[in-house]
Amino acid sequence: MLRLLVVGDLHANLSAIQQIVRAAATAPSDMTPDAVILTGDFAAHDARLPAAVASRIQRGVVRATESLWCGLQVPILCVPGNHDRPDLWGVGGCLQSIDTLGGRQPAMVKGYRVIGVGGSWRFGGLPYEWEDSEGFEKALEDRWPASDDVPEVLLFHAPPAEAGVDRVVSGECVGSRALRNIALRRRPRLVICGHIHEGIGPGVLGGEIPVFNAGLAGVPLIPPFMLRQRNTEKPRRLRVPGSFFSMHMIEESESQYDVVAMCNLGRGWIRQHLVFESRRGWRVE
Ligand SMILES: [Zn+2]
Repeated sequence: MLRLLVVGDLHANLSAIQQIVRAAATAPSDMTPDAVILTGDFAAHDARLPAAVASRIQRGVVRATESLWCGLQVPILCVPGNHDRPDLWGVGGCLQSIDTLGGRQPAMVKGYRVIGVGGSWRFGGLPYEWEDSEGFEKALEDRWPASDDVPEVLLFHAPPAEAGVDRVVSGECVGSRALRNIALRRRPRLVICGHIHEGIGPGVLGGEIPVFNAGLAGVPLIPPFMLRQRNTEKPRRLRVPGSFFSMHMIEESESQYDVVAMCNLGRGWIRQHLVFESRRGWRVE
């Protein structure tokens, strides 16, 4: 069995990290994760700032972020997001980058190989961007270890296309074709991503691979935001004013995945339980 604490885009929200680390550190022992998985976008890059100023700010965010996470005594695996400089994140401190695109190695957690890909397709002006092309897909695959019988978890910053976790407010689906193709060929046990905050929650790739977008752990949500709960018979819409913190405990066992989604709306943690079964998809318990 594999248990992962998954936290999405923190965007320099140190208060969110403090609350999440505290909740994780005081969780009952049967909720202790084998590893923490951070999907990137630790920083909140402002492309209008002079490069030297942006760099100084990002280095400060690295130091503060590392010092908060270091309190947890479990491996902390991450990929840098498009807001993050890949040379600054997960190198040398308690956060470990597994971004194969950036030349890092996959990690092993309890017999599972965790392969990472940081950055996102081009928005323009952000520190870690790539072209979502066949060339990119090929370059990525060349860097990955050969497929074998080891069960795998893929950790992407950007969501794969057509997995139900990439729809932005305008209604457009913006997921990566390259990441989708490579994941479908690789057939991992689970895909974890972030980046598209509105896409938070569970999805499915190719009809059977569970995908989870850890979404927006640290973004102060102004104006009020709609958290869509997909794959339920009657979708519930929850308006979330002000600050919102979230984390997800994902437990993999045999053919089932249990996700405990924990959201803090500023008035304590709310829990929701989701289950994924192969061929049946996700359901809310
Ligand atoms: Zn992002």
